Amino acid sequence: MIQRKKAKRFQALLSVCRNNTYYRNLVKNVSTVEDLPKIPILSRDLIQRNLLLSNGINKRRIRYDSTSGSTGQPLRFIKDQQSSEGVKIATELLFNKWAGLNFGERHVQLWAYHTKSFYQNVWFKYLYNCRQFPPYYNTFDAFHPILEKIQSLRPNLLTGYSSALFLAASLIEEEDYNLNLPLKGIIASAESLLPYQKKFIETIFQTDVLMRYGAREVDNVGMECPERNGYHFIPSRYILEVVDSEGNLVNSGEEGRLLVTDLLNHIMPLIRYDIGDYAILSDELCSCGRKWPLIKEIKGRISDHLELPSGKSFPFLSFNVLFEQVSDFIREFQVLQKSTEKWVIKIVIAPNFRKKQILELERTLKEATNNEVDISLELVKKIQRTSTGKFKYIIRMNELSVNK
Ligand SMILES: [Zn+2]
Repeated sequence: MIQRKKAKRFQALLSVCRNNTYYRNLVKNVSTVEDLPKIPILSRDLIQRNLLLSNGINKRRIRYDSTSGSTGQPLRFIKDQQSSEGVKIATELLFNKWAGLNFGERHVQLWAYHTKSFYQNVWFKYLYNCRQFPPYYNTFDAFHPILEKIQSLRPNLLTGYSSALFLAASLIEEEDYNLNLPLKGIIASAESLLPYQKKFIETIFQTDVLMRYGAREVDNVGMECPERNGYHFIPSRYILEVVDSEGNLVNSGEEGRLLVTDLLNHIMPLIRYDIGDYAILSDELCSCGRKWPLIKEIKGRISDHLELPSGKSFPFLSFNVLFEQVSDFIREFQVLQKSTEKWVIKIVIAPNFRKKQILELERTLKEATNNEVDISLELVKKIQRTSTGKFKYIIRMNELSVNK
């Protein structure tokens, strides 16, 4: 059933591509889903240089959008109002349900505002029963009135950027605020959460955190079910592939760059789109019984990698693994890359830390970078947010000189 739907949608996309200036020649030898790897990988660069717009499309279907460039490369793109909007809403409702929210129950989001039309506002507030609040706050005083408001709304679900949820939890803990929410779950999105951060959010809000994966270009691709075995994704809408650095497909269970094909965008087809994340696909079925396939792991944004002097890449999530051993005393950390050879790591520690642990951590970090980098730890009370209140895990040397 799913396979048939997927094949049908793929054929529909193909026929659109035969009338698309960019894709016309690329899909010449493509007739089934299995031929997909014959189409070259679509990079952000290619999108910026080519107009992928399909010919003869009703202009009413066009919705312009853009990403803020969290991967360091802002992108303008066009969505297809007609074919994907309904699926997008249905998926969101379903994912909310996985996190415990029944349709009609109240939902609060810590999310950046997007301008909505009158009807969208009516839908959002009265039918979707959702209220949005800005994600980032510099102080508890700034957050306090919002928190009171959220408390009075009695939401059953809280959704937010991972970093915004972590910031909220930190502010609540700092002031020992008496939180009392009837939450059934939390959905964290947009950034990976370090394990200790996830644990911390769960402790403060007294409920489970489920991770959701998506991007503005392609909507919500997948989410964890309560079994948390990975991200289930919608097989009738997306075709996911993982490739190595040469662009060759890797086996399931192996890590590589994630390519997303969205079968529902006919206006600006995104086929084998290199979304900028490392991921591992799984061919196992989840113990929850849902038939949707799994992305076993999202390994984070490509930009979340630091370069070592030898030219090798050091994934930011490695800090994650190392810090997990000592997660009971690290609250937050930030890496300042002063030069390729010198990193300073700012750490906010809990009161129970021991000096011995810090020295041990310094040693393990040096080892993890093959002793190529001079790493020093700096204990701090607080880590500065950017002017918009956003938390940055990595500050690179070019940014240091700009900020100074
Ligand atoms: Zn599952």
